[in-house]
Amino acid sequence: MSVKTWKKIISIFVIILILSLAILTLFLGIGYFRYEKLLNAPTTVDLTTYGYTDSESLSKLFKYLKEVDADETISYQSKYEHLNIDNDFNFTADTDEKVCYLTFDDGPNKDVTPEILDILDRYNVKATFFVIYRDNEEEKKLYKRIINEGHTIGIHSASHNYTKIYASVDAYLDDFCKISDHVEALTGSKPEIFRFPGGSVNSYNKAIYQRIIAEMTRRGYVYYDWNYSSGDAESANISPSEITDNVLKYNLDSSKMIVLCHDGPGHQNTAKALPDVIEGLLAQGYTLKALDNTVSPICFGY
Ligand code: ZN
Repeated sequence: MSVKTWKKIISIFVIILILSLAILTLFLGIGYFRYEKLLNAPTTVDLTTYGYTDSESLSKLFKYLKEVDADETISYQSKYEHLNIDNDFNFTADTDEKVCYLTFDDGPNKDVTPEILDILDRYNVKATFFVIYRDNEEEKKLYKRIINEGHTIGIHSASHNYTKIYASVDAYLDDFCKISDHVEALTGSKPEIFRFPGGSVNSYNKAIYQRIIAEMTRRGYVYYDWNYSSGDAESANISPSEITDNVLKYNLDSSKMIVLCHDGPGHQNTAKALPDVIEGLLAQGYTLKALDNTVSPICFGY
C-alpha cells in the first residue's frame, strides 16, 4: 500500500477514536448529570421521570447513595452504629410473575392485628407489618407472633408524630432507634426495611426527606412506599366492601403490587375486608408474599 493509503487509514481510525470518546463522554456526562440533579433536587423528584422504576436502575441509585453520602463531618452518621444492615441492594427476588405484597401500617393493635393474622394464616399467605411502638403486655406479644407466623416486620415509627420525627435527621434516627430496638428486644430479629409515616415524600418532610433517605440508605435500609392503596385510612366509616373494591377495582395486570392497608386502632373493617381481598387477588393469579430487602421497592421520589 502507498503512503497515501496508510495516511487515509490512520486518519479514519483517529476520527473513529475521537468520535467514540466523544460519545462515551456524553453518556457518562448525562449519567452524572442525572445523579447530581437527583441529589441536589430542591423539591420532590418523581423517580419515574428519571427512569428509576425498574429493579436494576433502583439498585444502581441506592448503591450510589450508599457511597456518595458517607461523610465523617456529618455527626449523625456516627450515632446508633448498630443500626446498620449488610445490604448490597441487589433486588434478586424480583420476578415477572404476579406477586402482591399486602402491607399493614400503624399496628400492632389488640383489636385488629390478631384477626388479620388469623385470616392470613387461614389462607396460608404472608404479609408485611410496618409497626409502631406499643408497650402493653397484650400488644407486645404481637410483634413476636407476626415473626413466628412467617410475616415481615418493617419499621414505621415509634411515635408516628410527623412534626417530631421530621424535625431533623437526628430526630428521625432517635425515633427509628427506639422502635427498632423495641422490636429486636421482643422478637430477637432486627428489622431491615421501613416505611415513612405519610409516605417517603409528604408535606411534613419536604425539606428533609432526601437527607433521611440518604442516611438510611447509607446504613443499608430499604424503604417501601406503595403502588395501590386500600383507602382504609381515607375516611372513618369506610366499609369492608369499599376497601375490597379499592384493592380489586383496578385492572390488575401489574406484576408487582405493594398495597397500603392499616391495622392500627379502629381498623376492624380492614380485617373484615381481608378474606375477600385475598380471594380476589388469588383469583387473579397473584401470589401473596411478605416483603424483604431483596424485593425492589416502590419509591415515590427522591
Ligand atoms: Zn402510619
